Amino acid sequence: MRTRFLVDGMLGSLARWLRISGYDAEYRREADDDSLIEEASRTGRVLLTRDRELAHRARKRGMEAVLVEGEDEVFQLGELAAVFGLELDPSCSRCPKCNGPLTRVEKDQIKDRVPEASLEAFEVFWVCGVCGNVYWRGSHWDQIVSTLEEAERLSGSGGSKRL
Ligand SMILES: [Zn+2]
Repeated sequence: MRTRFLVDGMLGSLARWLRISGYDAEYRREADDDSLIEEASRTGRVLLTRDRELAHRARKRGMEAVLVEGEDEVFQLGELAAVFGLELDPSCSRCPKCNGPLTRVEKDQIKDRVPEASLEAFEVFWVCGVCGNVYWRGSHWDQIVSTLEEAERLSGSGGSKRL
């Protein structure tokens, strides 16, 4: 089974990049330490945190936790890719906004919800099964691909500690 993650409130950008890379990453902006530990334990997710004490507590309970120390999310993603052997594949992205699964849809299913210029310029669209957001590979797509390639290059350079 693919590694699934629970991401603490300080790592929202990393959570989005994990989703774009095709990984199930739940993000809890407000959760306290106890509820993060409880949820990660109950759902079998790897806890990602910037809080050394929280990572330590999770480890003591026999859970997998990573203390994420890199400043930059590309570097953080590269570290996780190295530790967990992640394949960073934007063709199986989840919704970057809410972590919902994306489903490919036909143009006429979303034609009222996408700017006309995008409808004309693109053929392939996806809809989030949870929040309903529509996605297509617009002008930012090349940037996403090159960011993930950069993260893959960085993987293996070390920094975060798997506890
Ligand atoms: Zn969504």
